[in-house]
Amino acid sequence: MKVIEHLENTNEPLFSFEIIPPARGSSGQDIINIVEELQPFHPPFIDVTSHSAEAYYEELNGGNIKRRIRRKRPGTIGICGVIQNRFNIDTVAHLLIRGFSKEETEDALIELNYLGIHNVFALRGDETNYKKPIENSKSVNHYTSDLVKQISALSNGVYLEEILNSVPLDFCIGVAGYPEKHFEAPNLSTDIKHLKMKVDAGADYITTQMFFDNSKYYSFVDQCKKIGIQVPIIPGIKILNLKRQLTNIPKNFHVDLPEELVEEVQKNPDRVEEIGIEWTRKQSQDLLDKGVRCLHFYIMNDTKAVIKVLNGLKY
Ligand code: FAD
Repeated sequence: MKVIEHLENTNEPLFSFEIIPPARGSSGQDIINIVEELQPFHPPFIDVTSHSAEAYYEELNGGNIKRRIRRKRPGTIGICGVIQNRFNIDTVAHLLIRGFSKEETEDALIELNYLGIHNVFALRGDETNYKKPIENSKSVNHYTSDLVKQISALSNGVYLEEILNSVPLDFCIGVAGYPEKHFEAPNLSTDIKHLKMKVDAGADYITTQMFFDNSKYYSFVDQCKKIGIQVPIIPGIKILNLKRQLTNIPKNFHVDLPEELVEEVQKNPDRVEEIGIEWTRKQSQDLLDKGVRCLHFYIMNDTKAVIKVLNGLKY
């Protein structure tokens, strides 16, 4: 089922999760274990992130340094296929612009369609220290709205090259929204105008960047509605569980941490996990109490904390 159908057809709150593919060389069994632990919460869908290639340096015998390029976490499509077909839980494959030509994106969509996966999340992708050269004969998307247009065109059977009697590929498309604005945008209202371009290009729903202060989410939803964005906006939630995240989260995700949360962690550095879980439980309860029907958790493959949060909710 498509994400949008899950959202439309529910009277109960929905809890969805975002997982990351294991690092190259790790066992896929870890993912199976994670999904088994999440199963009791009946996730309507699970997102699997995607990661573009990075450069790394290896010291060879004799002291020479060799630059190598690799995707540290490959396997997004395979993991989506395994989860969907083994657990009968819908999956959302993240699709990136960065590192992929339009032709490679079309191939990935064809593969997803064969696997029976009809949900994708369109993204530009995080910047890495490596920019893949794209052959002259290939084409690239620039902004995510361009990627959304490419995916939407396939719903009408429009492939990159004209194909007679082509089969349409029908995908439900999610895109990212930033309640505290994307770090490159000059201001929040300009960023929301760009978000509307993604929706106008065919996005069916929005999932937000993490936030720790619900008033930022409510105000973002209001501003989106004011400029005519009518698709569902799913809140993305992360549980703080390490003291170093007080600096890492603002640095990597460009979001603020509320003063009250920061002070509590600084006063009780040995209780960070407990504080993070309780903060998220209160945040989640408030969202549910205000009528939000789906909460999306960035679990970073750690199920313990999110299970404690979910077990503490009343609905
Ligand atoms: P875009 O929508 O293209 O926007 C990027 C910037 O360009 C914004 O500042 C926007 O305001 C601006 N912009 C957009 N259109 C225009 C225009 N026409 N003219 C001028 N400016 C414009 N990264 C990964 O690598 N893998 C993942 O799996 C992944 N999953 C994510 C999931 C969620 C829910 C979120 C919130 C982020 C995720 N990211 C992931 C991070 C994401 O790739 C980065 O935040 C990236 O920098 C922006 O992606 P985007 O799709 O929002 O880009």
